[in-house]
Amino acid sequence: FDLKNDDFTSLQELGSGNGGSVMKVQHVKSGTIMAKKVVLIDAKPAERKKILLELQIMHDCDSRFIVSSYGAYLAEPNICLCMEFMDKGSFDAIYKRIGPIDVKVVGKVAVAVLEGQRYLYDEHRIIHRDIKPSNILCNSQGEIKLCDFGVSGELINSIANTFVGTSIYMSPERIQGATYSVKSDIWSLGITLIELIVGQFPFSGSFDSDNDSDLEGEGHRTPPATHRVSLTIPSSPTSKRRSKRRSKGVSLHGGGMTLSIIELMHQIVHEPAPRLPSGKFGHDAEKFVDACLEKDGEKRTGLTGAIRNALDKGVTTERSGHDRMDENLLRR
Ligand code: ADP
Ligand code: MG
Repeated sequence: FDLKNDDFTSLQELGSGNGGSVMKVQHVKSGTIMAKKVVLIDAKPAERKKILLELQIMHDCDSRFIVSSYGAYLAEPNICLCMEFMDKGSFDAIYKRIGPIDVKVVGKVAVAVLEGQRYLYDEHRIIHRDIKPSNILCNSQGEIKLCDFGVSGELINSIANTFVGTSIYMSPERIQGATYSVKSDIWSLGITLIELIVGQFPFSGSFDSDNDSDLEGEGHRTPPATHRVSLTIPSSPTSKRRSKRRSKGVSLHGGGMTLSIIELMHQIVHEPAPRLPSGKFGHDAEKFVDACLEKDGEKRTGLTGAIRNALDKGVTTERSGHDRMDENLLRR
């Protein structure tokens, strides 16, 4: 496809995040339904060229664990990324709609994410860098795929938002400024798995006043190192879109950074890692999550170990995320 804005009709807004917004669109000539991500960038012409070049890699990715790309184009001042539309949406939306996700299904998510990471690293030497529930998508064929990986360093540099690259799923060593390794993504996977299994972002504590009722009565189940955090992001021309409150124990408001994000980062670095509540979801799942959330990046399980663990004695006995997912999950 040689793509431009005129080629599409917009069908539905799918959501928005730190970097931009995503729209369900139809490519008129071919009839293809796609997800189009629009990212506002602040880059000089030379940088823009480089971004487009780097995004070519996305086009070259061919894995059943990676959302495929139809191409990217510039539409000043934005860059548009056209990708495979995943009709069941992202796992954050799924668990927020139906509640905690069955640990067996989460096992399939773990395997799909790890296989996706392995593909990106082995075939393209790419580290994903943004593993989180909203970047794990699902379709009605029961396929689970990763999207939004860090193909373009130049794009990351020029996204017109100071908060890009900061994530509440960041590993302790990442927060402390270590160079990125695949193991940082394993930490993010561990946090993600707890969030999907328990139905709540695992760091939550005493800072947020809005959301207390959700937690009460469940306090005994939450891991010891949990604190609720209020995350505030800086104002920017696009902050209106993002200022909608998010229900993951973290609230996003416009208007200047508060101490809270620092507080969260401090907890990630200095408090014990979150854990699954013991005895509730099975020993294998607990063990697997603990291995992902080893605080010392050096000692943490690597990709190969995690995949072996997930497949052999860990969270799932099934070979891929491609077996049909829980029918109920897909129907709802
Ligand atoms: P974030 O990942 O931080 O939520 P994004 O801008 O990357 O922000 O995505 C916004 C939302 O759009 C996601 O939460 C997801 O639900 C939806 N989305 C993204 N890509 C796709 C896709 N290829 N197919 C279907 N939905 C998508
Ligand atoms: Mg995303």
